[in-house]
Amino acid sequence: MATHVEGLVDEVYLPPAELARGAHCSSMEQYEQLYKQSIDEPETFWGEIAKQFYWRQPPTGAFHEFNFDASKGRIFVEWMKGAQTNMSYNCLDRHVEAGHGDQVAFYWEGNEPADSARLTYAELLQRVKRFSNALRSLGVRRSDSVALYMPMVPELLVAMLACARIGAVHSIVFGGYSSDALADRILDGHCRLVITADGVWRGNKLIKLKHITDHAVELCAARGHPVERVVVVRHLPRLHHLVPSVGDQPGGSEPYNVKTGWNSGRDMWWDDALEGVSDECEPEWVDAEHPLFMLYTSGSTGKPKGVLHTTAGYMLYVATTFKYSFDFHPEDVYWCTADIGWITGHSYVTYGPMLNRATSVMFEGTPFYPTGDRMWEVIDKYAVSKFYTAPTAIRALMRLGDETVKRHSRQSLKVLGSVGEPINPEAWLWYHRVVGDARCAVVDTFWQTETGGHVITPLPGATPTKPGSACRPFFGVQPALLDEQGEEIHGPGEGYLVFRRPWPGIMRTVFGNHERFETTYFKKFNGFYCTGDGARRDEDGYIWVTGRIDDMLNVSGHLLSTAQIESALIEHPDVSETAVVAAPHSVKGECVYCFVTTRHGVAWTEQLQKQLILKVRERIAPFAAPDYLQYAPGLPKTRSGKIMRRVLRKIAQGDRDLGDLSTLADPGVIEPLFEHRCAGA
Ligand code: ATP
Ligand code: MG
Repeated sequence: MATHVEGLVDEVYLPPAELARGAHCSSMEQYEQLYKQSIDEPETFWGEIAKQFYWRQPPTGAFHEFNFDASKGRIFVEWMKGAQTNMSYNCLDRHVEAGHGDQVAFYWEGNEPADSARLTYAELLQRVKRFSNALRSLGVRRSDSVALYMPMVPELLVAMLACARIGAVHSIVFGGYSSDALADRILDGHCRLVITADGVWRGNKLIKLKHITDHAVELCAARGHPVERVVVVRHLPRLHHLVPSVGDQPGGSEPYNVKTGWNSGRDMWWDDALEGVSDECEPEWVDAEHPLFMLYTSGSTGKPKGVLHTTAGYMLYVATTFKYSFDFHPEDVYWCTADIGWITGHSYVTYGPMLNRATSVMFEGTPFYPTGDRMWEVIDKYAVSKFYTAPTAIRALMRLGDETVKRHSRQSLKVLGSVGEPINPEAWLWYHRVVGDARCAVVDTFWQTETGGHVITPLPGATPTKPGSACRPFFGVQPALLDEQGEEIHGPGEGYLVFRRPWPGIMRTVFGNHERFETTYFKKFNGFYCTGDGARRDEDGYIWVTGRIDDMLNVSGHLLSTAQIESALIEHPDVSETAVVAAPHSVKGECVYCFVTTRHGVAWTEQLQKQLILKVRERIAPFAAPDYLQYAPGLPKTRSGKIMRRVLRKIAQGDRDLGDLSTLADPGVIEPLFEHRCAGA
């Protein structure tokens, strides 16, 4: 099987010399040495790292225990069992007590460029202590779960850290989800208290979070689950610059009417909840394995899973991955564009950076508001040195042309991260050459909600990178590739990406459903954690994540990954986005069905289609050539921006039974796709 895109991915990009000089890990020899220690002596490796944190009690038993073998009983993972600590203490008090209270923890950048704020570690600590007391006075106790349905505002950080401080378990629901999706998550997590805001502007769009919450709470009540309290942040009136409302927004120019739908027995303003609370708040000292949060996966491949993470292992892991994957240094200004509602936001907006005492940007807006220059403007405004975003954003920004980027300085940038989907070599190269002026390191970080933090990633000062490859495993992570029979593939090859044993940040269970945890991740290949992704290992031991196992194609006995074909198609200058799926074929078994979004203003001509077929034949092989090419005005994506290929598979087959659509961002894209379906497929 042809796997290389000649001239593109064969090139190796060495770590920028300047970066390598002061890096935490500055050569592959050093990486190999640290990696070996992390595998051979995990207790020494992680034990040394644990010393940076505050422990009320050291571990009482084994530093690390697990079982991945169902024939030996229950699947479990434990790190530092019996040790006592507190996450918020380690993110805040530890730094303030060491004299760093005045350091900026977050520059908050609002949807409107004129709205901004800054928060120091000391201010955050103060606010967290006060809100912790407010939560306690509202009856929230250790182990209770609390739903957070909030915009990217400082109160979201305060609320999550306050939950951690009092040993409550936060369940954050992305503020773009519908009331149905919110209700499902409130119910599944048994949350009796919901924290939200009046609303938020995202670009030109007003999202009425409180109204959506009200509806969700009604849905919960109808299903026998009363939500006792809704705490509401008054966000809209404090904005300096209200965005003029566009015509199709319900409510016209009125941003939010507080008088409607206020349930005085249940609803409470955030500020009122803080009335009269004490400034002091002793943290709840919790066990290492005490749950920290639950978070639902994106729902790309099916019904979202409620992933549960615990305290100590997650803390060690996100802190360490943040430090090494971005090569974090105290002088950095770091910006992760992810919403805190996703795992990327949990691990790399809040916990990872704060545990390292980073100064970060927290961004409320979108890359395209008020213009497509916004990302680069924010980078220059705060002199961002480490930048972390998703391929979906990179592809969209690439579409706007190089000029938009080049008219901004970006001199502060050093490391450019990517996460969420496989990044096509085309987009990787654009990120490197245009955004990073060919002088920054690009780190393509592979991981999942379940893994807690990066599991396969380059280290910016050490790893020579290859566009499209997530490179090598992080410390403590032992990947393997298995074939369909569960036999291990040694050396170069392609198969199921699994992990042989746990690292500290791996999930502990599916909330309230340990059986689903065992069957989803451990049943297919007993003894291994199965990611559900496919990957290829090349001659240098580099890992190329090729996409979901479900998305693999078997054409006349040739195994193909959709990512490969997509990468070939997107090289065509007229293509802005594409998704490839398998469709049944009477002779070949499966055939290649491609959805193609063209660049703005480009017509969908027969000639273009011929060129695309040629491109795939050249880049991969004749047998991989698309059987069907369909024009796609838009692609179905999750709200985290990932293409939902399972929905496209159904559309390709003309099947209207589309499965769980609760995480679909824009239902409006579906009908046009049925209309443009290729005849005969
Ligand atoms: P669900 O599990 O509900 O189907 P999801 O897998 O999209 O949703 P997440 O945990 O948000 O939910 O995403 C993890 C997945 O994202 C990975 O399994 C992988 O498919 C993809 N992914 C993330 N980062 C990368 C990357 N750097 N390269 C390739 N794929 C990636
Ligand atoms: Mg997944």
